Amino acid sequence: MLIHAIFAASRANGPGMRTVVFVQGCSLGCEFCFNGSTHRFRGIEVASEDVAEAVICAHRDRCLEGVTFSGGEPMQQADSVLAVMRRLRERTPGLSFGMFSGYTERELAKGRYVIWRSELKAQERVILWKAIRSHLDFAVLGRFNHLQPGDEPLRSSRNQVLRLFSGRYSEADFEEQVTEVHIDQSGLAEVTGFPTLGLPF
Ligand code: SF4
Repeated sequence: MLIHAIFAASRANGPGMRTVVFVQGCSLGCEFCFNGSTHRFRGIEVASEDVAEAVICAHRDRCLEGVTFSGGEPMQQADSVLAVMRRLRERTPGLSFGMFSGYTERELAKGRYVIWRSELKAQERVILWKAIRSHLDFAVLGRFNHLQPGDEPLRSSRNQVLRLFSGRYSEADFEEQVTEVHIDQSGLAEVTGFPTLGLPF
């Protein structure tokens, strides 16, 4: 799968300490998206087993609550996301799963989404979404709409919906929007969370 970045530990992307897997590639084109560098389907290709292994390593070090898939658009690499989920379910069954997707639940339920380098038919995409949904504890769904800025937990615009697919969490488990700046060993800084006042650089 095409990966933009993996943050081993974040508190800005769902309940508790979570690894965040940012996929690379999104064709949805929301105006004023602040993740523009994740849009092109070009970059580092990583086997789904290796993505799962990175999460397992992070869990060993930090005793994670879960994993959040973000992007880019995770559902445009849905087959790989499901492969990562299945591997993690086998190896680390206690982790929770969350996802940010620009698609609405209705679009996903009808298979109205595209998958990078895939020729699956709509009915097969419906089945794929159902399989992913069966693993998800929560998802934030819907395009970012800059005309409807929002301050609810995890939702940067008011049209977006937080769906709870399992009994693991309630709305009260989702904390207010925060912004994190991650700086890697080379000094490269990446921002995650909700920079509602603009990026710091
Ligand atoms: S779906 Fe997400 S990554 Fe894609 S353009 Fe919209 S806000 Fe940006």
